[in-house]
Formats: sequence, C-alpha cells, structure tokens
Amino acid sequence: MTLSEEQTLLVKSVRDFCEKKVKPFARQWDKEQRFPKDVVRELGHLGVLGIVVPEALGGSGLGYVEYALVCEEVARYDGSLALTVASHNGLGSGHLGTFGTDAQKKKFMPMLARGEILGAWGLTEPGSGSDSAGMKTTAVKQGSKWILNGTKMFITQGTVAGCYVVLAVTNKEQRHRGITAFMLEPGMKGFTTRPIHDKLGMRSSDTAELIFENVELTDEHVVGEVGSGFIDTMKILDRGRISIAALGVGIIRGALEESLRYSKDRQAFGKPISDFQAIQWKLAAMATDYEAARLLTLRAAALADAKQPFSKEASMAKLFASEAAMRAATEAVQIHGGYGYTQEFPVERYLRDAKLLEIGEGTSEVQRMVIARHLLA
Ligand SMILES: Cc1cc2nc3c(=O)[nH]c(=O)nc-3n(C[C@H](O)[C@H](O)[C@H](O)COP(=O)(O)OP(=O)(O)OC[C@H]3O[C@@H](n4cnc5c(N)ncnc54)[C@H](O)[C@@H]3O)c2cc1C
Repeated sequence: MTLSEEQTLLVKSVRDFCEKKVKPFARQWDKEQRFPKDVVRELGHLGVLGIVVPEALGGSGLGYVEYALVCEEVARYDGSLALTVASHNGLGSGHLGTFGTDAQKKKFMPMLARGEILGAWGLTEPGSGSDSAGMKTTAVKQGSKWILNGTKMFITQGTVAGCYVVLAVTNKEQRHRGITAFMLEPGMKGFTTRPIHDKLGMRSSDTAELIFENVELTDEHVVGEVGSGFIDTMKILDRGRISIAALGVGIIRGALEESLRYSKDRQAFGKPISDFQAIQWKLAAMATDYEAARLLTLRAAALADAKQPFSKEASMAKLFASEAAMRAATEAVQIHGGYGYTQEFPVERYLRDAKLLEIGEGTSEVQRMVIARHLLA
C-alpha cells in the first residue's frame, strides 16, 4: 500500500520521536513497571492522542488508516506505550467522542485529544470478560440520581485517567439491551482504583481495578442512550481491534528488524548465522507475516474510513496480526539464542507484550467466533 505524502510525514515524525524518546528507555520502563507520563504527554503534543478526533474538538482530524500507522510505529518500539495510545484513542476517548453528548464532548474531548487528560474504558469485570454482557456492575435510578456499584477489572489507564467511560447494567431483564455507559471523573465520592502490577508483559502500561461504591451520577453522566451501552460497545470494540492489530504489526516489525541485525552480526561455524537457511526461512516467514498483517489491518482501517462494514475485517486483522506477532517474537528469541532469553535484547519483551494482543479486546477465540458468525449469517 502506498502512503500519501502526509501519511509518510506522520509516520516519520512518530518514528523520529520514538527513536529518540522511547527506544532508549522502553526496557527500563518495563523493568520498573513505570508508566512514562511525560512521554505520553509529549505524544499529545505530536497529535497522537487525538488522531481521529475532529479538529473542531482539538484533535488531528485524521482517519483510521493514520491511526493504525501511528499504533504500528509506537508498537515497533514499545508495546506498552502503544497500548496506551490505542486504548486512549480507541476506547476511552473513542466512546465519548462517538456517543457522548455535545456538552460532554465540548468539555472533555479537547483535553483528551491534546493528552492533557487520558481516557480509560471499563467493560471487563472480575467475573466477566468474553461474556461481557454478563457484567454485574449496576447503576440504579433513584429519583434524579443513578447509583453505581460494582468492580471493573484490568482497566488500561485505570489509575492515571482523567475521564472514564464505564458500562453498567441498568435493566437486568433486558440483558445486553439493558446496559448503559456512564462517564466518571477521578475523585468522585465512592470511586477508587487499585493498581494491578506484575503483569507478564505490557508492564509499563497502567492497569487497574476500578471500584464503585454507591457512586452518585446523574443523567448528565450517561454516554449515549440509556440501554444502548452494549450495542455502542460492540462498535467501539470493532474499531479498537484495528489498533490492536496494528500493535501486532509493529511488534512483528520490531522482531524482524532486531533479528535481521542480530543474525548478520552473530557468528557460528565461521559465518554469520544469517547464512544458514534455517535462519533465513524464519526471517522470510516473519517478513511475510508482517506484510500480510499490515495489509489486513490497513484494509480494515480503510473500510472504517470509507464508512463501510468492517467488523469481520477488523476481527480477521486482529486475529492474524496478534498470532503472527507471537510467532515472530518467538522466532526472534530463537534467532537470538541464549541472549534472546535475557533482557539484553528487546525481543523477550516483544514476546511478553505480544501475548496480550491475543487476549485484550476479545481473545483469539472470540475473534474466530465473530468471523464465523459473519460467514454463517
Ligand atoms: C493488560 C490488559 C489490559 C486490558 N485493558 C482493558 C481495558 O482497558 N478495558 C476493559 O474493559 N478490559 C480490558 N482488559 C480485559 C480484556 O479485554 C479481557 O481480559 C479479555 O476480554 C478476556 O476476558 P477474560 O480475561 O475475562 O477471559 P474469559 O472471558 O474468562 O476467557 C477465558 C478463556 O476462555 C475462552 N472463552 C471464553 N468464552 C468462550 C467461548 N464462548 N468459546 C470459546 N472460548 C471461550 C477465552 O477465549 C479465554 O481463552 C485488559 C486485559 C489485560 C490483561
């Protein structure tokens, strides 16, 4: 796919930024499980935190193709930071920007788009993930108030966000048509967060539990229609899957570039290991996976930009790119031999980070279900 001049410039600016401000530090952030707040703020100055937000609301006014390109670029250097970019743009800001009221958008979107505050999105609960309509968090109407109770699990930006969109049951009988989205701010009475540490990968991305104990909300906090939260969520996840696929594309590229470099340097049996066909075949497979994953991802993004159906394509891109990222990272570790098993090289981090892509925003099993449902419809 040929990029326009503008897209090429965008990619270059993000790459230059990441070479300078991310690559040298990603290993340390991962080790210390440190959320790089200042660098995230700088990404906001680059326009990367409001990519698809209209310019009138302070965003960059670009499309999903640009969004995917940016996510790939950041993920090439740091999966955790790319997850921040993806979840902020696609989930938290995405839900508010798409379904919020004019007042909500006017108040929050410019700050979100500039990265002055970050967005978080709470769907998953301790007892429900894939079966998200089985959530237990409730919002009960009492007079003019909604009283929110429950817990959300594994929420990205959970402790650092300035704006949360949270899904809750408002009418149990109607199951997925009885779920509503609400907007919360940190510091609200009864709303607390608990950080989740020691994840396998994505360790410098902020993850937390959100706890709601009689949080008082009003109709002004409802995002979208009462009862439409779950249907809106499916649309948000379709778009989110494009960004998770793009993270996979970035990790495959990272694994390939590191492997090309290492295999030309490392000597065995009197020659560089890149001279061995066994290594060449791994490189060839990684490069082919990269191209295939990228094409699937950009196709889904282009369909989204053209306002055509893209749910199946987004699931295909996410499924393929995340599994290909795992393959590429595994082979990259193998090519690096014993050194690949240490933190001296970034490939072990790519492997740990890639695993999340097969789980978050719908597991690989869920993507297969979505694709099959489309095929059989
Ligand atoms: C680092 C991280 C960040 C995350 N960020 C967010 C976030 O910002 N917001 C948010 O809401 N959530 C977030 N999540 C949650 C994530 O989306 C869920 O973990 C994911 O959807 C899977 O849900 P689960 O963990 O409950 O697994 P489960 O749904 O319990 O699944 C367990 C296993 O069973 C399989 N399974 C379940 N149902 C079926 C079925 N019908 N057929 C076949 N297999 C099935 C699954 O594929 C999986 O292999 C995050 C998770 C992590 C780890």
